Amino acid sequence: MTTVIDGTAVAQDIRTQLTDAIGELEAEGVTPTLATVLMSDDPAAETYVSMKQDDCEEVGIETRDPEIDAEDTAEDLYTLIDDLNEDPDVNGILVQLPLPEHVDKQSVIEQIAPEKDVDGFHPENVGRLVGGNARFKPCTPHGIQKLLEAEDIDPEGKHAVIVGRSNIVGKPMANLFIQRDAGGNATTTICHSRTQNLEAHVRDADILVAAAGVPEFIDGSMIGEDAVVIDVGVNSVERDGEEMLVGDVEYESAKEQAAAITPVPGGVGPMTRAMLLYNTVKAAGLQHDIDVTLP
Ligand code: NDP
Repeated sequence: MTTVIDGTAVAQDIRTQLTDAIGELEAEGVTPTLATVLMSDDPAAETYVSMKQDDCEEVGIETRDPEIDAEDTAEDLYTLIDDLNEDPDVNGILVQLPLPEHVDKQSVIEQIAPEKDVDGFHPENVGRLVGGNARFKPCTPHGIQKLLEAEDIDPEGKHAVIVGRSNIVGKPMANLFIQRDAGGNATTTICHSRTQNLEAHVRDADILVAAAGVPEFIDGSMIGEDAVVIDVGVNSVERDGEEMLVGDVEYESAKEQAAAITPVPGGVGPMTRAMLLYNTVKAAGLQHDIDVTLP
């Protein structure tokens, strides 16, 4: 019997525990605060930011929504980030991607104070993650680690295969799996678009993390018996004239084969959102030297 891993339920549990952690901060006079920076007219980006703000409000994190337009200069954005870096009431800064073409993404990431970089993308935070001393684990791979923990799936000694090597999912996921830590100790393979014989690697996975952004390109015939399948992909496709979301894994055939699988939607997505709240609460605790109880 295949376990369908309920990311919505696990994320809700984390949010509940975070509400308690926020209570600990409030008792010390600290209200955790996240600044969301949207420099885009892209409706999807606008939706993501407003969802993140709603998530914050729900658990008691305050939000700031400073004004910047897609047509403004990169310098305007740097100035805004500098102001937020220096504002002691702001604990976390999230710059929503994508940015306009005239703004260099990496420079923006490096402009954010590492102590407020709740996405965990700043080179200092990437270096700490690789070195086994993470400050902020990037939200999606951290959420996957928490999801596996909630399902009592220990990666130790298992073969974890990640399809995708992006800076936000594939690479940090691999770095978490290889750490000598709880939720790590896996033998880890990363596949990408130049990988030869992808199917053989995928079939050998005890834990498969699919993060390629290619709709349903991994099906049940490629998945080893009793594998745990974590589908990160969120792809919008048209089926029977209707727009719908599918993962990178063909769910029905993969479910036949896997021991456990995450659905799309309702798997990794809610965990990514919950871990942003986690990092914001952690940031507030670290900045005020308060030892909060994190889930
Ligand atoms: P990127 O496009 O940045 O990276 C995709 C990776 O997949 C690249 O490393 C690419 O290889 C690899 N790849 C692409 N096609 C193939 C293929 N046919 N075979 C093997 N490897 C392939 O994507 P992201 O990491 O940002 O996102 C991946 C997916 O996850 C997307 O669908 C995205 O929407 C989703 N996502 C979901 C989140 C959630 O919370 N649920 C959060 C973040 C992302 P190469 O490097 O060689 O080009």
